[in-house]
Amino acid sequence: MLQPPHSSLQVAVVPAQRVPVRDRDQDAPWHTEAVCRRDEAGLFFAPSKEPTAARLSREEAAKRVCARCPVMVECREHALLQPEPYGVWGGLTAAERRVVLARRRRRDMELKKAARTTDRIAQAG
Ligand code: SF4
Repeated sequence: MLQPPHSSLQVAVVPAQRVPVRDRDQDAPWHTEAVCRRDEAGLFFAPSKEPTAARLSREEAAKRVCARCPVMVECREHALLQPEPYGVWGGLTAAERRVVLARRRRRDMELKKAARTTDRIAQAG
């Protein structure tokens, strides 16, 4: 399993310049460019017994970091495909990722249903 980019919580969040996709090393794993690799503030995962207001504030701060991360799309897809059950990944909280996954499942079911209908019509005609 891929090591979470923000699993190391020992060092400060370092602002990064947005790197255009074409300038990136395509062979390097996406998480090597993760802005959150140095997350001293511990923004991305909840400490135990975190009050709701503190959680919301921490998550918003994490999302601001994600918003300037050059690998946000790759990170988000990774977290959705795993799926990663905890933490902020690709600018989405765990709850937000569950919503995205539910929407994708619904869309996939509708597409399969439409394909079956199309097949039945083609066979009948
Ligand atoms: S998008 Fe956010 S969680 Fe993902 S690698 Fe970048 S800073 Fe980390």
